[in-house]
Amino acid sequence: MPSRLEPMSPVVLGNVNGSRGSILDKCEDFTRADELKALGLYPYLRVIETGQDTTVEVDGHPMLMLGSNSYLELTSHPHVKARAMEAIQQYGTGCAGSRVLNGTLPIHIELERRLAALVGKEAALVFPTGFQTNQGVVSSLVQRGEHIVADKYIHACILDGAGLSPGTMHRFEHNDMKDLEAKLSGLREGAPALVITEGVFSMEGDVCNLPEIVRLAKAHGAQVMLDDAHGLGVLGPGGSGTVAHFGLTDEVDLIMGTFSKSLGAIGGFIASSERVINYLMHHARPFLFSASASPASVGAVLGALEVMEAEPDRIQRLWENTRFLKQGLVDLGFDTGASASPVIPVVIGDFERCLQAWRLLQDRGIFVNPVVPPGVPAHRSLIRISVTAGHTRAQLAHALAVFEAVGRELHILDRPQ
Ligand code: PMP
Repeated sequence: MPSRLEPMSPVVLGNVNGSRGSILDKCEDFTRADELKALGLYPYLRVIETGQDTTVEVDGHPMLMLGSNSYLELTSHPHVKARAMEAIQQYGTGCAGSRVLNGTLPIHIELERRLAALVGKEAALVFPTGFQTNQGVVSSLVQRGEHIVADKYIHACILDGAGLSPGTMHRFEHNDMKDLEAKLSGLREGAPALVITEGVFSMEGDVCNLPEIVRLAKAHGAQVMLDDAHGLGVLGPGGSGTVAHFGLTDEVDLIMGTFSKSLGAIGGFIASSERVINYLMHHARPFLFSASASPASVGAVLGALEVMEAEPDRIQRLWENTRFLKQGLVDLGFDTGASASPVIPVVIGDFERCLQAWRLLQDRGIFVNPVVPPGVPAHRSLIRISVTAGHTRAQLAHALAVFEAVGRELHILDRPQ
């Protein structure tokens, strides 16, 4: 047991004594999770015994949920549930095959048409998960001799897609337009390049500088792909996303979204021109070789899009709640980074102190997620809060009171009491 806690590391040393050893040795040697559990500081895999509402139950205890990405609170909306159940009634519980073989239903086609219309593109393609969407798009689109130029904070699935692509990956400092320009300038003249970033960054809730990214990409003849997992349903007219928020729909070549945040289900999509979508449906391996999104998910997302249209005040409430909680945290003296969205980080810095803060919040009935390296850079461990349209003022005020008490107890807030 080390004297000081260190983040869990994905790097595992192999057998160094020359004998072959077992491929499974690393599993025996991996004890970090057990150590954290022994200290009561293991924050993962909590079992939630209820739906993703603003109050959930964990171990039979009610908790205020501030750690769900269900920004519009649609996972329990009666219309969304009804649409999912209707889809099950009509098509069953699964498609038992890939979209390209036996797995395409009329509701897949309808959903793709509606998603394309939502984000203002010619066509869209639905994947079983958001993760597979990015992985499949990036790995199939960027070929040998071509380049990916991506923000340092992009999601793991884009990194994995880049890892599977024969192209070359370059990463620019987070939201640093000078560094993006330097990386683009460093590419061989005329080499195709795809700039990839996120609309709303998943861990710290800051919004990308899309106008400048588009300008630089165009100046260097590169295309732009935006992962809008956390912007969809949150930004832009009617929740149409970050690209529409900036009025750059025609300038961004590929827009990616997931169903697992605002849209109340699971799955993902990519939207682009008809020719690009046609290419992807014949090349993206998770689309070709994984079973299609289930009828329940597709039905739920159709329902979620209908609710977004019928109840535009949800987005308004989401933003009112966001402003209230963020301002409250800032007034208390917490560092909320550059968040400009319902994803609000409370930056703690030190890994161990962050887990202690998480534990105190947990014990006092606040469900939040700690984000520690490698999810964030070293010394930037944080508590990630996500606000939803469903939170009441009383719930958020209570959360602020608990955060204040914990902040003082751990000397994160240094103002005198
Ligand atoms: N992109 C971003 C920015 C994400 O935050 C996530 C999920 N955390 C994904 C992609 C993957 O989406 P999904 O969970 O729907 O597979």
